[in-house]
Amino acid sequence: MNDIVKQIPTQNFIGGEWVGEPALDVRNPANGEVLATIADADVATAVSALDAAVEAAPAWADTDPRDRGELLRRAFELIIERTDDFATLMTLEMGKPLAEARGEVAYGAEFFRWYSEEAVRIHGRFGRAPSGQQRIITDKKPVGPVFAITPWNFPLAMATRKIGPALAAGCTVVVKPAAETPLTTLLLMEVLVEAGLPKGVVNVFTTSNSKETSAALIADPRLRKLTFTGSTPVGQALLRQSAQNVLRTSMELGGNAPFIVLKGADLDAAVEGALVAKMRNNGQACTAANRFYVHADVATEFERRLQDRLENWKVGPGIEDGTQLGALIHDRAVDDIVGLVDDAVAHGAKLRLGGKRLEGPGSFLPPTILTDVSTESRIASEEIFGPVVAMQTFDSTDEVVQRANASNFGLMSYVFGEEGEALRVAERLEYGMVGINTGLVSNAAAPFGGLKQSGMGREGSYEGLEEYLETKYYGMPL
Ligand code: NAD
Repeated sequence: MNDIVKQIPTQNFIGGEWVGEPALDVRNPANGEVLATIADADVATAVSALDAAVEAAPAWADTDPRDRGELLRRAFELIIERTDDFATLMTLEMGKPLAEARGEVAYGAEFFRWYSEEAVRIHGRFGRAPSGQQRIITDKKPVGPVFAITPWNFPLAMATRKIGPALAAGCTVVVKPAAETPLTTLLLMEVLVEAGLPKGVVNVFTTSNSKETSAALIADPRLRKLTFTGSTPVGQALLRQSAQNVLRTSMELGGNAPFIVLKGADLDAAVEGALVAKMRNNGQACTAANRFYVHADVATEFERRLQDRLENWKVGPGIEDGTQLGALIHDRAVDDIVGLVDDAVAHGAKLRLGGKRLEGPGSFLPPTILTDVSTESRIASEEIFGPVVAMQTFDSTDEVVQRANASNFGLMSYVFGEEGEALRVAERLEYGMVGINTGLVSNAAAPFGGLKQSGMGREGSYEGLEEYLETKYYGMPL
C-alpha cells in the first residue's frame, strides 16, 4: 500500500470527531486493487452530520470575517505544502496522470486563497428610497447549513470550490464525496483541522447509499442550501426533492461542449487547445470538448495534426512517469464509451485511431478519433466523458452556431479562429463559458457554470460567494 494511503483517516468526520467502522472499499482504477476501506454511513449517521452543522452554525456565522478568512488562508498553505500527498491520492483514487493531479492541487487550493480574500469583502448597501421617505439598508447573511455533494472527477477542486465560499460566507457544511474518491476529501478534512477548524463547521460522511442519505438531509427543514456537482439526471432528482422545502440549490451538471475550429484558425494552436480540452482528466471533465466542428476546408489537416500528436500518447497508470492518459474511473465507463464509438461507426463514422479497450488489468481506453460523425449517432448529442474526439465538418458560420447551440446542455464551449471572428461567434453561443483560442479556462477568480440542463448558479469569483449569502433588507423612516 502506498505510504500516503496508509496515513489517510478512513472514518467519517462529524462534530470534530472521527467516527464509524471501515466497511466500504475504495479501488484504484489503474489495477482494480483495493486502496483503502472506509466508513459506510447510514441515514442516521448522515443526519448526525447535519446535527453537528446546525449546532455549529450560529457561532460560525458570528465569527469575524477576518478569522474565517485566516482559516481558509492557512488551509490553502497546508494544501500547497502537501501537494504531493494530495496529487498521489487523487491519481490513485481516480486515475488521472500525476502531473494533472498536481495541477488540480494548485487549482483546488486556490479556491481557499481566493475566498480567504473575499471573506472580508462581504457588505450590504445604505441608501434612500426615491420618495425620500425611507432608508433602505441591506445586509448579506450566511444562508445557513449547507449540504455539498461532490463528484469523483475532480475530488479536491469540487470540494474546495464549495467549502471555500461556504466558510467565507459564514455557513457550516456537510460534505458527501463520491464513493469512488472519498480519500482526498478525508485528507482535506485533516488539513482543515490542522488549520484550526472549529468543531462541526465542516463535517464529512462517506457512503455507498448516496440516494437515501442525501434524501434524508434534503428533506430536513434545518438544511438551508444544497450544492451539487454531478450528472444531470441526479441533479434533476435532487431538484425535485428540494422543491419540498423550497431549498436553495446550486447545480453544476453535465456538459456537451462544442469545439469549433473556424477557417481562419491557427491550426497548431487549435490542436494544442483540443488536446487540453479533450484529453485532460482522461476526457472526464464536464468542460471536455465533446463535439468537434471543423471547417470543411481545414478538417483534413486538423485531423492529421491531431492524429500525429495522439498516436504516440502514453497510456498507463497515472502514477507512472510520463503517462499522458490514465485509467478511466471504472470498467463500466470504458464499456459505455466503446458502445458510443461502435454506434457512431454503425452510423457511418470513420474510426481513425483507438476505439477498443486495452487488455489487462485496469480500465483503459486509448485516445480515439472519429471523423464523419453523423448527427444521427448518439455520440453527436450525448456527453462522452472519455478520450474520444468525435469530428464533424461545417461550411458556414451561421450553420455551425446553429448546430453548436442545438443541445440541451450549455456549460462550456470553445472557438478557435481569427480573434475578431472568434469573439463574434463566441457571443452567439448559448453557453455559460466560452474558451476563445484556449482549451482551458477554469480559474478560481472566474464564474464557472452553465445554462439549460447544465445547471444553475455559479462557482468561483464573487458570484460563487453570492450562492451562500442571503440579502436582508431593513426599511426605516428617514
Ligand atoms: P453522479 O451524478 O453519478 O454523482 C455525483 C455525486 O452524486 C456523487 O457524490 C454521487 O455519489 C452522488 N449521487 C449519485 N446518485 C445520487 C442520488 N440518487 N442522490 C444523491 N446523490 C447521488 O456524477 P459523476 O459520475 O460522479 O460525475 C460525472 C458528472 O458530473 C458528469 O455528468 C459531469 O459533466 C458532471 N460534472 C459537472 C461539473 C460542473 O461543474 N458542471 C463538474 C464536474 C462534473
